Amino acid sequence: MSIAENIKQLRDGLPEGVTLVAVSKTHPPEAVVEAWEAGQRDFGENRPQEMVAKRAALAALPEPLDGIRWHQIGHLQSNKVRLIAPFVEMIHSVDSARLAREISRQAVLCGRVIDVLLEIRVAREESKSGWVWSELVEWLSGGEWLGLEGIRIRGVMGIATFTDDLEVVRGEFLQLAGWFSELRVGVFGSQFDTLSMGMSGDFPLAVECGATLVRVGSAIFGFRN
Ligand SMILES: *Cc1c(COP(=O)(O)O)cnc(C)c1O
Repeated sequence: MSIAENIKQLRDGLPEGVTLVAVSKTHPPEAVVEAWEAGQRDFGENRPQEMVAKRAALAALPEPLDGIRWHQIGHLQSNKVRLIAPFVEMIHSVDSARLAREISRQAVLCGRVIDVLLEIRVAREESKSGWVWSELVEWLSGGEWLGLEGIRIRGVMGIATFTDDLEVVRGEFLQLAGWFSELRVGVFGSQFDTLSMGMSGDFPLAVECGATLVRVGSAIFGFRN
């Protein structure tokens, strides 16, 4: 199926209120154009340099595309924040105090407030990034985040273990959903409204478990090299 058909089918299957972020990493600007023509506006990248280059390529087209919202979904190094701070819609991968501080600082320099999500580690694999829950709770209790004027903390992001065992994945999504609601009720209130979980292999389950935003790449654009 074409990119446009994949997007239409995905949208038809998602409940109202669930945002589809099309993960265009490694795919050329033409793939973004095709998705845009199918009505897609939210796009995800995991490398800042690639996001910047793709955005520039799209701006240089004879008919530049309007209204694209770029999401940083992959691990972000502090020294790369300034590349995307002027335009990024949402940063999903805030996994340290240092990164939160730097995003806020760069946002203030640009005269912006950037929406961010707290990435929480839930998968079994050691390698997955994200806050360890207890360390996140400790940082939030310290209150430093209240003074970070350049960020608006909108929710939680997580990546489940890569496995065929859907019960493991379900358990992890429910854990993330539990943390999300704990923070919403106990700390942030109703502006904390985004639960980013679910990728091509597991998004239907993520939606069942309460995701408000799914990040889907290969099921739209095909396999990556
Ligand atoms: C690549 C990536 C995705 C999309 O993965 P697919 O399996 O291709 O849908 C989602 N989230 C993150 C953080 C990613 O790096």
